[in-house]
Amino acid sequence: MAILKLYNSLSRKEEVFKPLRDKRVGLYTCGPTVYSYAHIGNLRTYLFEDILKRTLTYNGYRVKHVMNITDVGHLTSQADTGEDKVEMAARREKKSAWQIAAFYTRAFKNDLSRMNIMPPDVWIRATQTIKEQIDLIRILEKKGFTYKLADGIYFDTKRLKSYGRLWPKKMKLKAGARIEIVPGKKRPTDFALWKFTPKGVKRQMEWNSPWGRGFPGWHTECVVMSIRELGIPFDIHCGGVDHILIHHTNEIAQAEAAYGKPLAKFWLHCEFLDVEGKKMAKSEGNIFRLDDLIQRGFSPLAFRYLCLTCHYRSKLNFTWQSLKASQNALENLYQRTRETIPARGTSSSPSLGFKKYQKRFQEIINHDLDTPKALALLWNMTEDKKISPVEKYHLLLDFDRIFGLGLKKIKRLRIPKKVRNLVKLREEYRKKGDFKKSDRLRNEIERLGYLVEDTQTGPKIKKR
Ligand code: AMP
Ligand code: ZN
Repeated sequence: MAILKLYNSLSRKEEVFKPLRDKRVGLYTCGPTVYSYAHIGNLRTYLFEDILKRTLTYNGYRVKHVMNITDVGHLTSQADTGEDKVEMAARREKKSAWQIAAFYTRAFKNDLSRMNIMPPDVWIRATQTIKEQIDLIRILEKKGFTYKLADGIYFDTKRLKSYGRLWPKKMKLKAGARIEIVPGKKRPTDFALWKFTPKGVKRQMEWNSPWGRGFPGWHTECVVMSIRELGIPFDIHCGGVDHILIHHTNEIAQAEAAYGKPLAKFWLHCEFLDVEGKKMAKSEGNIFRLDDLIQRGFSPLAFRYLCLTCHYRSKLNFTWQSLKASQNALENLYQRTRETIPARGTSSSPSLGFKKYQKRFQEIINHDLDTPKALALLWNMTEDKKISPVEKYHLLLDFDRIFGLGLKKIKRLRIPKKVRNLVKLREEYRKKGDFKKSDRLRNEIERLGYLVEDTQTGPKIKKR
């Protein structure tokens, strides 16, 4: 197997991936804040994580994948101000915060399943680990990394020399400027570990703590949930690029301050999906979710295919036209797969050509998950006359262990006897040059739901 190399945002270069514990890999992916439906940008990130996980499994590793559900503590502003997103949605929809979280969690899981994204081995909700979060903040307090303000307990980033290790250099200057300052915050980068329930406000999700009634900060939650399930350090932590500057930087800071250890060895980030060249935004009216795509007649797997055509570290510009092209390509791929399905009992030992394609595929995908190149290889392979149909079929299924486009479910086309006879008869008329009759039969075949294609090796029948 080719060496697996992944781009580590921490070192800002590609590194050879080796698990910390022999063949087992601990993978933590930041999950959704369940206050509304996931949009296609979010889904792009979850899909990238799915490709990563499938690649690790393909390489023979046993992956323990943990994904959290943020059901409390994610505020509308990155600056530790604003409202809790789940509580706000509860008010908007006149439901309890718990109902909101349960509803959008279900919707999220349904999206993953429709996109053929494998579920994690462990789902964990932030509200399940409140006690452990309080314990972590206590450790930070004991070690002198915290201070108290009127609205909560804050992490003192100045106290940690290594703070901001994850920042690319060009972001370093901008970081302070982006974050507005809460009154009393010593530094713009300081962040809330515990927020107090504001006076006169009745929150639905709140707990007692040594500092006062309130709720945990979003960045604390992920540290606690990941360590609880995977230990510290663990192998890989993922999310979208927007998490680099604040969320993941603050996770790393807490782990290093509390335990003197790095939280994870590899940090992988997926670039954003834009729509028709623009950032998705309410004001642009271009925030789409999977159901919007389905309503316009697209299959969720066409969107999956579209994501695969772009490397995860490049921006993906979503357009309806590119989605249409992906849907066509996917249908084409299904047809090619159908044509290569071997008859029962057919077996063959892999030829040199087969092994060459498999090896090349592994090299490509193990080079930082290069799915666009891997797709190009797949199409070349299907055209290669030196590879037999049986081998093509087995290569397609092998590649699809990573692509996840559902090729295994493609069944042989069962053509009714009536259609087969009509095709035979039409071929006889065609050979005799009686095109009037052969065209009439073609129409009849079409009416029965099939298409005939005249090829050098004889007529081919497809579903219409
Ligand atoms: P959130 O629910 O806002 O925490 O986002 C869930 C995941 O989607 C996070 O990993 C984000 O980094 C990621 N994400 C948010 N917006 C986009 C986008 N436009 N394109 C790709 N990923 C995104
Ligand atoms: Zn997180």
